Amino acid sequence: MNPTDLPADVVQAAATDNLLSAVRAIAQGPLAQRAQAIDEGAYPIDLVTQLAKMGAMSAHIDQPGRPGDYMTTIAAMAEVGKVCGATSFLMWQQAVSALYLFGSANEAMRGERLQRHLRGELIGATGMSNPMKGFAGIEKMLLKATPVEGGYRVNGTLPWVSNLAQEHSLGTVAAVEGSTERAVMFMLPCNAPGVTLKTCPKFSGMEGTGTYAVQCKDVFIGADDILGDPCKPYLRGIRGAFVLLQCGIAAGIIQGAIDSMWAVEDQLGHVNQFLDDRPDQLQAELDDLLGRVVELAKTPYDSSNAYFIDVLNARIEGGELCMRAATSALMHQGARGYLMQSDVQRRVREAQFVAIVTPAIKHLRKEVATLCAEDMPA
Ligand SMILES: Cc1cc2nc3c(=O)[nH]c(=O)nc-3n(C[C@H](O)[C@H](O)[C@H](O)COP(=O)(O)OP(=O)(O)OC[C@H]3O[C@@H](n4cnc5c(N)ncnc54)[C@H](O)[C@@H]3O)c2cc1C
Repeated sequence: MNPTDLPADVVQAAATDNLLSAVRAIAQGPLAQRAQAIDEGAYPIDLVTQLAKMGAMSAHIDQPGRPGDYMTTIAAMAEVGKVCGATSFLMWQQAVSALYLFGSANEAMRGERLQRHLRGELIGATGMSNPMKGFAGIEKMLLKATPVEGGYRVNGTLPWVSNLAQEHSLGTVAAVEGSTERAVMFMLPCNAPGVTLKTCPKFSGMEGTGTYAVQCKDVFIGADDILGDPCKPYLRGIRGAFVLLQCGIAAGIIQGAIDSMWAVEDQLGHVNQFLDDRPDQLQAELDDLLGRVVELAKTPYDSSNAYFIDVLNARIEGGELCMRAATSALMHQGARGYLMQSDVQRRVREAQFVAIVTPAIKHLRKEVATLCAEDMPA
């Protein structure tokens, strides 16, 4: 297999090959040159915007006369993720916030605002880690919304949200005061009065993701900013698509790791053959996983538990395979992969991120266990 290519069935499933070629050109060109700088903290918003304007993070959204195609967006993220996991994660942020607007019943979200987002004129982010862990009973909801005339006042702090700048917005959820169950989901503009972006502690990787703590002090959220209220029924319709899109980041990191094993095969194959998780084996596992992702991508808005369990399992496998592939690539490359400037050691940290970013592997397993128990006959 040509190491710069994704598995053929994925490219085939991604209808717009021209788009993927253009994404690949950016990934292997300017992005490859800047991947290390991004790892060290340079936020590549110019490249993210360029990719968004090309349509790399909007192909999955239905447009008049053109049904959405999830595999194209997933494959585009994978092309980028082979080179830079952080930028692939930023693409996911933009893709998933498009999904938030598209999935909303609020006309103020679906009209011109959605179109501007799809054209890359608006940049979006997602602050859903805490709410998702809140809904799963893993931690308390950190944002509180107090009902006021025309909307809500929101208070609280999200500890880390990526892809942020003053003119960007993030989708997030606040628990409604006075109710034990109700929560509201909204787009929060980073420049709204009362919002402060606070610098995060230094991370071991993904430093160039524009990640900040988002502090809200009496932030007014009006009707035009609401995505879903109450948000649980709305979220049920998009939960599968949200998680499925993350498989693009994982696929890129895994493919990048496999390619770096082949890169030393001529020189080190005589001894690397004694390692576990050889590139051909990992490729077979990745192709198998992507085959299932291709199928799941055909019905992204299936709200059944059975579908969601399949998506969660694919995402678990993606996270686990990321870790195995990145670790094995390090062992295949040896000392050259351990150099601080090596993409191989950077990928180990990117893979760890896929395993811990919400839904983290532990969270995914908890979710699968809960849903399976719900679906068991009494
Ligand atoms: C680089 C980076 C980018 C991220 N970007 C986003 C984003 O865009 N949007 C988003 O919603 N989330 C983002 N997150 C958060 C991420 O999705 C996870 O929620 C986070 O990594 C922890 O998930 P976990 O399930 O492992 O929880 P755990 O780490 O197990 O957390 C459980 C509890 O420990 C607390 N905790 C964790 N670390 C500390 C600490 N240092 N001090 C005190 N308490 C702590 C948490 O608040 C939580 O209550 C990002 C995280 C990182 C590292």
